[in-house]
Amino acid sequence: MKFPTNPTKLKRRHLLQYSTGLIGVGSLMTWLGTGAFANRAAASTQKRSLLAAAPPSGAKTTLVPDQALTELMAGNRRFVENKRQKPHQDFVRIREVAQGQAPFAAILSCADSRVIPEVLFDRGIGDLFVVRVAGNIAITEDIASEEYATSVLGASLLMVLGHERCGAVQAALARKPLPGVIESLVFAIQPAVEASEGKPGDRLTNAVQENVRLQVRRLLTSSTIAQQVAAGKLKVVGAYYDLDTGTVSLVS
Ligand SMILES: [Zn+2]
Repeated sequence: MKFPTNPTKLKRRHLLQYSTGLIGVGSLMTWLGTGAFANRAAASTQKRSLLAAAPPSGAKTTLVPDQALTELMAGNRRFVENKRQKPHQDFVRIREVAQGQAPFAAILSCADSRVIPEVLFDRGIGDLFVVRVAGNIAITEDIASEEYATSVLGASLLMVLGHERCGAVQAALARKPLPGVIESLVFAIQPAVEASEGKPGDRLTNAVQENVRLQVRRLLTSSTIAQQVAAGKLKVVGAYYDLDTGTVSLVS
């Protein structure tokens, strides 16, 4: 992983350079991965190779953003009601998408073993482009992955999915020393913990939901993502998964 263990060591020149690029918000920059500082030539080369891997023209989803959201939430209802259809999980589907993918939704989810988007939204192979990382944090590489899912593969919905009793958010609340580089996760969540302080209700639930809002905002700092939203091609939403009931609800 490429987390800055001591962001204050980042050179001012790099910070200024980066502020004119992908993410132009100074307060968001200290948590960014070092991959953010790749030069423009490298980024351009990478973009060309990613485009080459895109599905053939016309293969992208035909679902508009609201339809994609409706489809996801309908799948979650089937899951909660124990009426899963388990679509797109057979060999016919494997062959159908073997040469190109066209997921209708992209999801930034926590890596928690209990939060499995394909299961809780009742979808199958090639339907969802899922990025999973503890605390569903939008660091540079995650933003890049979601840019690829939306602008190249054509997903029309982008969802940040937080969940009940998230261990990464709990760690950010606890403020205790952590082994290895786990603290880098806490670092990315900390602004949400501070923003949720003093609010009525459960402390952890509030922090999880505030973290979802924070990561949505971070995704929207990508000009690639923001432009798609402005053009009506993409919707970015936050959501919360209830571990007890299996229900996903939107976080406004
Ligand atoms: Zn979690």
